[in-house]
Amino acid sequence: MTDVFIVGGGPAGLAAAIAARAKGFSVVVSDSGHSPIDKACGEGLMPDSLEALAALGVNLDGVAQSPPFRGIRFLGANSQVAATFPTGEGIGLRRTVLHEILVARAKAVGVELRWDNTVDDLHSVQARWIIGADGQKSRVRQWAGLEAAHRESKRYGFSRHFRIAPWADRVEVYWAQGCQMYVTPVAPDEVCVALMSRDPHLRHDGASAKFPQLMARLGDSDQTTPERGAVSATRKLKRVVNGNVALLGDASGSVDAITGEGLCLAFRQASQLAEALELGDLERYQKWHRIMMRRPALMADFMLLMDRLPAVREPALKVLEMQPGIFARLLQVHVLGGDFCIDRFMPALLR
Ligand SMILES: Cc1cc2nc3c(=O)[nH]c(=O)nc-3n(C[C@H](O)[C@H](O)[C@H](O)COP(=O)(O)OP(=O)(O)OC[C@H]3O[C@@H](n4cnc5c(N)ncnc54)[C@H](O)[C@@H]3O)c2cc1C
Repeated sequence: MTDVFIVGGGPAGLAAAIAARAKGFSVVVSDSGHSPIDKACGEGLMPDSLEALAALGVNLDGVAQSPPFRGIRFLGANSQVAATFPTGEGIGLRRTVLHEILVARAKAVGVELRWDNTVDDLHSVQARWIIGADGQKSRVRQWAGLEAAHRESKRYGFSRHFRIAPWADRVEVYWAQGCQMYVTPVAPDEVCVALMSRDPHLRHDGASAKFPQLMARLGDSDQTTPERGAVSATRKLKRVVNGNVALLGDASGSVDAITGEGLCLAFRQASQLAEALELGDLERYQKWHRIMMRRPALMADFMLLMDRLPAVREPALKVLEMQPGIFARLLQVHVLGGDFCIDRFMPALLR
């Protein structure tokens, strides 16, 4: 018997465990895999992700091996535009390193971690609260009757690493017909390259001809990790709470990976879920979750429109190139929007 039982020990599950322990709950986390868990990812932590982690007591100062990045650059066929984050900097961090750090913090605060431990149903779980942090294909979502979605679509992501010194102090997003590649610096001599598309069969080698600029940058640098794939869903669930079960992270709905928002959302949800557990009021989390997903979902819609419609993409990139202030404003809303919302409106909305 435990206060909180968490299915899934990825970034979301571990963040929720740390936040729940801080409220004094006993917490057990169970994961099918073994730490450190790797996953296909762009591996970029935006300034707002770092803030959300700091709020959980996880400080990543000095942890990143690569220099921080200061903003985002979009590169199209004939245009490019860059903007700097309004405050702070982001870092690239290998998923395994992030996982090790979260595991260390969870252990330090007294979370019980059970690896190689797949949860097959919820009947045997004895806990006051059950949290589903079991990723995109969440079974907890199914068991708790929370599958119903307002919207759902999928893209496919593949990431791999290259041995080359990062050439930019920004995350670079390269746009091509039907796919994007984005590059995050993760070490003084290594970058992570993630490919996103709607085609489940498209891999880096098949897509490379669409990205001549990037291929010229990468030259003949060595690939340091095998290609790793994952589904990136755009999913908005009708509800994320039922009885004593709550979902968080990708299990609770997600925005397309191209936004770089997945981890930030998970960390923020973790803090809010712990607050709701403390108050014994999961409906509060339900409400907060619905409101918080709106801004990232809007941003994702804009990006996916650029993905789908070349007639929109190239002119939009051209306009942004000519009016970089608009891009800077978009980036500001992207990384500060959450805080703005929480600080100004959330208390009133939750009443
Ligand atoms: C290609 C790609 C690039 C991305 N790039 C970025 C980026 O740059 N920045 C960013 O912030 N986000 C990015 N994301 C999104 C980010 O990776 C996810 O939002 C994040 O991994 C969500 O974490 P999670 O803990 O919810 O899920 P996961 O990381 O999927 O963890 C779920 C865990 O649950 C466990 N599990 C599942 N079922 C069970 C079970 N029955 N019993 C026990 N354990 C179970 C799994 O083993 C796993 O460890 C990207 C995603 C993709 C696909």
